Amino acid sequence: MLTTHPYDDDKLREECGVFGVADVSDAAAMVALGLHALQHRGQEGAGIVSFDGAEFHNHRAAGHIAGNFDSEEVIASLPGRSAIGHTRYSTHGESGLRNVQPLFAELASGGFAIAHNGNISNAMALRRDLVNRGSIFQSTSDTEVIIHLVATSSYRTLLDKFIDALKQVEGAYSLITMTPRGMIACRDPLGIRPLVMGKLGDSIIFASETVALDIVGADYVRSVDPGELVVVEGGKITSHRPFGENRPRPCIFEHVYFSRPDSIVDGSSVYGVRKAIGAELARENPVEADIVIPVPDSGTPAALGYAEESGIPFELGIIRSHYIGRTFIQPGDGVRHLGVKLKHNANKPLVNGKRIILVDDSIVRGTTSLKIVQMMREAGAREVHMRIASPPTRHSCFYGVDTPEKSKLLANRKTIEEMQDFIHADSLDFLTIDGLYRALGEANRRDERPQYCDACFTGDYPTRLTDHDALERPDQLTLLNAVETEAAE
Ligand code: SF4
Repeated sequence: MLTTHPYDDDKLREECGVFGVADVSDAAAMVALGLHALQHRGQEGAGIVSFDGAEFHNHRAAGHIAGNFDSEEVIASLPGRSAIGHTRYSTHGESGLRNVQPLFAELASGGFAIAHNGNISNAMALRRDLVNRGSIFQSTSDTEVIIHLVATSSYRTLLDKFIDALKQVEGAYSLITMTPRGMIACRDPLGIRPLVMGKLGDSIIFASETVALDIVGADYVRSVDPGELVVVEGGKITSHRPFGENRPRPCIFEHVYFSRPDSIVDGSSVYGVRKAIGAELARENPVEADIVIPVPDSGTPAALGYAEESGIPFELGIIRSHYIGRTFIQPGDGVRHLGVKLKHNANKPLVNGKRIILVDDSIVRGTTSLKIVQMMREAGAREVHMRIASPPTRHSCFYGVDTPEKSKLLANRKTIEEMQDFIHADSLDFLTIDGLYRALGEANRRDERPQYCDACFTGDYPTRLTDHDALERPDQLTLLNAVETEAAE
């Protein structure tokens, strides 16, 4: 059996990162660097499309950026002063190479490349209509629906066709498109997934996170606003807001786990928010103990915040190996449990005889927490108290994050007490949703809540979920299954 990340499989996974640069020499090399900084947002496949003023060039590969986009030959095969790229973890469509983005099509207006972070929650319904009208799909990706909507739009200009297409889709999208005329970056009306804009000299850069601007030495300009389309054409930038006024609902989980701690998301330092989350967690759920230990790496900033607020020393009681390969061939069942120790190991002399507080960002299936608590006990911990830096994850995400079915989420099946028994901890507590909003500095705007998408904690989805709802209705199931079957053929 092949597995990636024997430990992190028990995490929600952000599935995509996007990066685009207009009007710079070595555009493809710069995109490769940017995607490298976004590698945590998707590790299954990546692609770059470049435009050299006359032709489009593309290269797509399964796996990581390193090893696929670091050779001179590959970069030389992607000439031009503009390029867009995408790194992917599949949440929609099979994981084959044909779904690796950016997707590219020759439209009546010329070449059109598109990179998408998010998930279109009515893609199956739209696809069914398009197929009935004669569209022929090349992939099973929800993103291809946008290409067909643009291609079949009756509007005259490409920008109007694009807006017409976006007005028909529901869900989450941060998009970068490239045509012979220039580049368009946009965010869905609620701004569910992030997208930022930067500048390097006269060149404009778009990226999922600011860390990708840092790596190429670009300055952060601002976030692309929810519902905004930013058009870069002939060295000029114009902004369009065709969706009217909406109250933004960016994903709150970007702050909890997805984004890198050195990123700025919607104006806030992710690291700063995570430390504030840890402090809230300590205020809400104090416990007497000797040391605070982060579950590395994602629990580290929250554990620091917890330790500072509680006055209990912060210690590295779990050491993470950074040398384990991405792909590890699991041995037979008898020794499979050893796999977990390849990535994390207890710091025994430190843990032995202590009452410890373990801080992690979330619990998904609970299998990781169970193994870590067990590891701490085997290392001699006297008491193990688990503190989780987010509310219980009870609902699936339909906006571009890989979540197990609702029934597999531990918090959906069990009470907190039952979860505590399941992971064999002496105590288990979660941050409340109010605590999370306080850490984000939103406590004073209670009457405006929610200011974020927090649906995986609350079940309050900010958009319609057309495909999901249809799948729950038997009369619609046959139709949508037929679309899925066609897509897979
Ligand atoms: Fe983020 Fe959760 Fe909303 Fe998905 S459901 S967008 S993970 S807050």
